Amino acid sequence: MSETVCVYCSSSDDIDDKYFDVAEAMGHALAEGGHRLVYGGGQVGLMGRLAESVHESGGAVFGVIPEALRNKEGVAYDVADEMIVTGTMQERKAEMYSRADAFVALPGGFGTLEEFMEVLTLKQLGYHHKALVLINTDGFYDALIEFFGQLYEKKFARERHGDLYHLADRPEEAMDYLASYRAPQEA
Ligand code: AMP
Repeated sequence: MSETVCVYCSSSDDIDDKYFDVAEAMGHALAEGGHRLVYGGGQVGLMGRLAESVHESGGAVFGVIPEALRNKEGVAYDVADEMIVTGTMQERKAEMYSRADAFVALPGGFGTLEEFMEVLTLKQLGYHHKALVLINTDGFYDALIEFFGQLYEKKFARERHGDLYHLADRPEEAMDYLASYRAPQEA
């Protein structure tokens, strides 16, 4: 069972409402499932909606934000139950990584991709065996999955490593996956 779930997601406020709906559903599902949220500590974009939704459903929000972002007006989610301020983005990622039992990426941009690719690479190398889920809202990640296919085909990555993450259409499906997930050494 994944007690603390790290969610990576967009910091953009300009994206379609359907993505905010997914962030909201994710937040409610996490809290209702008794999971604690660890995330980038922002109140912007999907991050903000996610954190608010966890709180709406009575869950706990743990943010990790670098000093430079915390000092920017309107970026940090000031009502988080706990907020760690790190010196750098790298320290922030390490903090989120070490506190999480599982990782979920909602639709996002470069930041989300970078965070997801890092935990995927670490799992590939055997540094951890935690669950990884991509929420593929309306096929948002189809192009990325197709590109992964090219990596397998051209032998830049091993096809069996496609099992390192799970693609879920919706947060509810992600929660089912997390509930049934067994790390390889436990399987
Ligand atoms: P992006 O997908 O490029 O919008 O970046 C979002 C991801 O990067 C989040 O999961 C955060 O951890 C981090 N991030 C990027 N921008 C911000 C921000 N303004 N405030 C907090 N975290 C951010």
